[in-house]
Amino acid sequence: MAPTPDYDVIVAGGGMAGLITAASIGHYSKKAVRTLVIDRNREEEPGKKTNNGWTCGDATSKRSLDYLAEHAGIRYGEPELEHPVKGVYVYSPDRKSKVLFEGEGYLLNRKVLPRRQVADARKAGAELMFGSTAERLLSEDGRITGVTGRRADGSSFSFTAKVVVDATGSSSVLRRFLPIQSKIEKEIDPDDVVGTGRYILDFTPAADNTEYFDPDYCIIHLDQFIAPAGYAWIFAKGKTKVNIGLGVSKSGLDRRNKKFGLSDNLQSLIDKYLNDNPVIKDWSQPSDEANSGNTKGNWQVPVRRHNDCMVANGFALVGDAAWMPRPIDAGGISPSIYGGTILGKVVAEALEAGDTSEAGLWKYNVEYMGTHGYPMASFEVLRRYLQTVTNEQINYGMKHFLSEEDVVAITERKHPEFNRARFMNPGMWFRVLGQLQLARGLRYTVKKSAALVDVNLAYPSSPEGFGEWKTRLASELAETVQRFGPLGAAN
Ligand SMILES: Cc1cc2nc3c(=O)[nH]c(=O)nc-3n(C[C@H](O)[C@H](O)[C@H](O)COP(=O)(O)OP(=O)(O)OC[C@H]3O[C@@H](n4cnc5c(N)ncnc54)[C@H](O)[C@@H]3O)c2cc1C
Repeated sequence: MAPTPDYDVIVAGGGMAGLITAASIGHYSKKAVRTLVIDRNREEEPGKKTNNGWTCGDATSKRSLDYLAEHAGIRYGEPELEHPVKGVYVYSPDRKSKVLFEGEGYLLNRKVLPRRQVADARKAGAELMFGSTAERLLSEDGRITGVTGRRADGSSFSFTAKVVVDATGSSSVLRRFLPIQSKIEKEIDPDDVVGTGRYILDFTPAADNTEYFDPDYCIIHLDQFIAPAGYAWIFAKGKTKVNIGLGVSKSGLDRRNKKFGLSDNLQSLIDKYLNDNPVIKDWSQPSDEANSGNTKGNWQVPVRRHNDCMVANGFALVGDAAWMPRPIDAGGISPSIYGGTILGKVVAEALEAGDTSEAGLWKYNVEYMGTHGYPMASFEVLRRYLQTVTNEQINYGMKHFLSEEDVVAITERKHPEFNRARFMNPGMWFRVLGQLQLARGLRYTVKKSAALVDVNLAYPSSPEGFGEWKTRLASELAETVQRFGPLGAAN
């Protein structure tokens, strides 16, 4: 008889996704599962992403927090929910169009929240091992059987488990060196990663101008010069506190620098954006316990659709390690909440059923796709398209082509229809002709979106159908890569 593994589940990475997964496993198994969470951070600093802190824009929707409460029995409050907002204003580059995406949300305190999440995971029965880096996966007979790594004092560890969850974030080495044959893609295209960074600042408002700071709303500035192939943001964390930053694609930044003979990098763009803000003046990086060590930092976010398959025999991916952030805005908190909650449920069921093979864990792929994941491929295409348009085209498109319905659709996580950009729309004839290329591009993304959502909603219910499904997806996507050409055109 095979020896009993050390744990039922090992979750590598105790960040947003890993800690929610651990808590959800305990919730759905009624604490019957032996779960170990391994994180490289010290216990005093759970969830820290890099030496520069818990780098994030900190914004998430109330909808996702409600989902967590309803499905995993976890409801956050103060101090981890730092500031409520009523929605997001998106500005065109010329700032003449301003579109409101309504919907309550919160600015989290990402340094404080993981402490609560550690308590939740422990309460749900998980054991936590801090100061320990997971380095490699163990395998036997085509399935993952455990994890090896190193503690902070240099000593090594090796534990076995029926399931290993990779929740180590966007720099995952476990996925990259997955030692078994599987359907999981191991590498991400560098063009599908954005460099992002931000400050958290206390400041004295130097003016009253809601284009540059609004205590009740998140603000997004689209501008291919300020944030090439990405966007810049000003998220209120209080009346005189802000999370301000931006994200860019590397190829977009390179093209923009080349075109203008500049040599900006991510940090210099962030600093310029901050210094040009007429409201946020006389600022300082807060040094209180809830913010110290987390006021300035850059990190990477994957912005393609999530991995087409997130499970293998004895193994699953979640959060940034699974490339879950939403391609158009790099929002990865909601996906970690949905993904972690669903994965916890499926793992608990698979252990109960005694089948933690690829087939036994497959339901996670299906349920995540059906709940939160199905529009992601279409958002990947929209992102790819938006990265190729000029500031003038964005100005024009936001003014003439974006309708109320499109805004509502995006708020509801659907692809917009861009009906105003229809050639058959007589009222818009002249406008469509004014920017024919843009209208065609937008309409193309709509057509593609519908096809991609159809493909994703037909995600196979078992591993057997995956090959055929993937061929269908790949052929839809290949056409868009060709059509939109190289990324990052800037004007
Ligand atoms: C600048 C910036 C702004 C963002 N803004 C937003 C936003 O406003 N809204 C939003 O929804 N999303 C935002 N995101 C994305 C969001 O922060 C991430 O999607 C989210 O944190 C992903 O959670 P995760 O648990 O997968 O990964 P992480 O939060 O990165 O957690 C990974 C954990 O694993 C640990 N770890 C890593 N490697 C190992 C290892 N080998 N062994 C053991 N432990 C390991 C890390 O220390 C960490 O604790 C932003 C990201 C950035 C960089």
